[in-house]
Amino acid sequence: MMNTLIAGGAGFLGSHLTELLIAKGHNVVVVDNLSSGLMSNLESVKDKIGFIKADITADEISITGGLDLVVNMASRASRAEWEKYPVEVALSNSLGSSNLIKIALAKKARYIFASTSEVYGNPDVVPTPETYKGNLNHLGSRAPYDESKIFGETLTKAYEAEYGLESIIIRFFNTYGPRMRGGDMYGRVIDRFIKQAMANEPITVYGTGSQTRSFTYVSDTINAVMLLIEKGKPGEIYNIGTNKELSIVELAKTVIEVTGSKSEIVYSELPKDDPLRRGADNSKISALGWAPEIGVREGLAKMMESYRA
Ligand code: UDP
Repeated sequence: MMNTLIAGGAGFLGSHLTELLIAKGHNVVVVDNLSSGLMSNLESVKDKIGFIKADITADEISITGGLDLVVNMASRASRAEWEKYPVEVALSNSLGSSNLIKIALAKKARYIFASTSEVYGNPDVVPTPETYKGNLNHLGSRAPYDESKIFGETLTKAYEAEYGLESIIIRFFNTYGPRMRGGDMYGRVIDRFIKQAMANEPITVYGTGSQTRSFTYVSDTINAVMLLIEKGKPGEIYNIGTNKELSIVELAKTVIEVTGSKSEIVYSELPKDDPLRRGADNSKISALGWAPEIGVREGLAKMMESYRA
């Protein structure tokens, strides 16, 4: 049994991880300022967890008792939010990371940092391995997220070198599933396309739709996190994502098919700095025994069911 702190535990990935940890008999304290997370995400476990409403960049967070693991998932994670709240996003992954690392060190707990495939920018090696150094615009509109995640990784490594922090860095590729935040404010592609298709409204593809992403269903992603908690090697960095690239126009067509929609596809301008390709070299996590179980069609159907319900 582990005592764990999940920062951002009321968010999309954080709440799914909290549920799995509770199901496996661990103790969880969630720290979240509810800026984008929702208490309703924790409905099924609310009587079994501790909850502290706090901002990791600004508030003193005092935890009584021991901790074995601190997981830092506290950040807004969509382009629309990075553009609307660039300072908050930049600080949550830098200053906020520093504050959480200090808690981990004080408690002699392992620290897991939720980083992102965004640190690769617009990669010219796809599937991208963890050793790829990145191709980014540090002044672009995505930079408050990308660069602060990079700095969050650097800080993790700095505390490891100087203070002996035991850490694992995870780089998440695109993940989707229930509780992913939707609507114009969040604007993630799968959420938008499914809602548009279910309403028989036009599917809004940006650019030509030839840009690719690799999509992993949330249960596969969280199983991978759990595997790293149990078997990940301290000091290592792991991609979590599939190596199957799907173009956005193919995704649009698949969503139309799976939902049986009458929607048409409409094309508009590609946002600036939108990465052209993304796919994970996942050999490191695969070597630990991870393989995604839910393909895109099945995952889209599950998403549709969850929206119907
Ligand atoms: N996208 C799109 N139409 C939309 C929303 C997104 O074509 O209505 C594209 C977007 O330009 C990007 C991809 O889908 O190429 C994934 O976008 P998302 O914001 O979900 O994730 P990210 O770009 O952060 O990987």
